[in-house]
Amino acid sequence: MITAQPPNKRIKNFSEVSLGLSKKQAIDEAMRCPQPANLAGPQGCPLGIDVFGFVRRIREGDVNGACQKIREHNSFPSICGRICSAPCESAGILSKENISIDIRALERYAVDHGPKRSFKKDSAQAAAKKVAIIGCGLTGLTAAAELAKLGYGVTIFESLHFTGGFLRYGAPEFRLPQNILNQEIDAVRAMGVDIKTDCFIGQTYSIKEIFDFGFAAIYLAAGQVPESLEIPGENLKRVYTAHEFLMRLNLLQGAKNPRQASLLDLGNKIAVSGCSDTAVDCARILIRLGKQAAVVYEGTEDTMTAQKREVQLAKEEGVKFELFSRPVEIIAGTGNSVKGLKCIRMDFAESYVPGQWALIPVDGSEFLTDADTVIVAGNLKPNSFIAKMTPELKTHETGAILSDRHTFMTSIPGVFAGRVIEGPHALVENMAQAKKIAGQIDQHLKGKV
Ligand SMILES: Cc1cc2nc3c(=O)[nH]c(=O)nc-3n(C[C@H](O)[C@H](O)[C@H](O)COP(=O)(O)OP(=O)(O)OC[C@H]3O[C@@H](n4cnc5c(N)ncnc54)[C@H](O)[C@@H]3O)c2cc1C
Repeated sequence: MITAQPPNKRIKNFSEVSLGLSKKQAIDEAMRCPQPANLAGPQGCPLGIDVFGFVRRIREGDVNGACQKIREHNSFPSICGRICSAPCESAGILSKENISIDIRALERYAVDHGPKRSFKKDSAQAAAKKVAIIGCGLTGLTAAAELAKLGYGVTIFESLHFTGGFLRYGAPEFRLPQNILNQEIDAVRAMGVDIKTDCFIGQTYSIKEIFDFGFAAIYLAAGQVPESLEIPGENLKRVYTAHEFLMRLNLLQGAKNPRQASLLDLGNKIAVSGCSDTAVDCARILIRLGKQAAVVYEGTEDTMTAQKREVQLAKEEGVKFELFSRPVEIIAGTGNSVKGLKCIRMDFAESYVPGQWALIPVDGSEFLTDADTVIVAGNLKPNSFIAKMTPELKTHETGAILSDRHTFMTSIPGVFAGRVIEGPHALVENMAQAKKIAGQIDQHLKGKV
């Protein structure tokens, strides 16, 4: 299995990155993976990676072949090899002992040790057609890479000065080093994709203006924004959304310099409300800043959306998990600052559907968790700015842009958007949807839709 992070007291460097597998570890892990006689059929990867195929090549010592096999379907395997939620691992690929295989670590091994990416443009395509992508997160970048391969002229418009979206300002260095993100984005640029930063679509340019610039199709990949908990006390000092916390820390370069991070006034005890990878990452960052961090969540460890291995590492590093605890109020201390997080205990009770169990609050079980800061790593909601500035775009009551289930076309012909109401939320699911949308844009531009 992949090398674990050392426990809290031994973490010396804030930027410490978990090590990849050695050659021996990789071959041993690949040997644990079964090789069924019939390799056809889905293998759990939303991007369609032939998991058995690339693992077999690692078993045979053919790292280049394994890397190529992965790149056939995934334009950003160095990123996925580090932070993918790896649904393939829970898709029933088990060793003889019924233990899951560390496929994500094998992907990282193949790509770290395989050849550099080479890229072949489909020159048969009409390169004259131009596609605009709004948002330079991994979703937009995935579509850009697919469309560039098909020969389209692709421009990404990004509102911020930096590329990479969430992964740039959110993902901590110990999970995804910035140089890996830079390499992947440079590779997209090398495919001929133009990235224009500081362009806030809806304000700098409208959708109509982008069409006027000569783009034949537009893909809206502007990501999602954090939702509040809707509990009293969220406007107190030292209450941050996870996004705000991560962005502030990043702007202070706190990841490289804990002294800079100390400019962010956090106090000592921090409660992180949520159950996602983002919540767990925030807590692990806080531990590296020398703080006490507790993840507060109403459900069980099994129902957390964070990856099991990341939860395990967080525990080893000293993060506490307050499960069965639903936040109900953030309590004020002196000077309008946070004093604690009031929660109510949750418990299982039989729901109105016989035989089914639901989590419900236990009457009179409120309790106070001491906290100097509360970080809200809650749900995400659709980013509705472009829709607000573009009345022709039809939206759902949540603000999500409506698009066709099959073609992903919105109410404006030639404008495409993902279907965020039904998810997807994990990185690899966003990437898979972006690939599908790139395919639909191609069909549309060929006049086939
Ligand atoms: C700390 C953290 C840890 C995570 N860990 C994991 C993990 O382990 N596994 C996993 O699967 N997922 C994880 N995620 C989630 C993952 O990062 C996201 O699923 C993914 O990055 C979303 O990519 P995106 O391109 O859709 O959105 P974003 O990355 O948000 O990109 C959208 C981009 O659009 C830009 N934009 C917005 N509006 C406009 C506009 N009007 N004009 C121009 N540009 C605009 C934004 O500035 C942004 O750059 C994590 C997220 C965080 C924050």
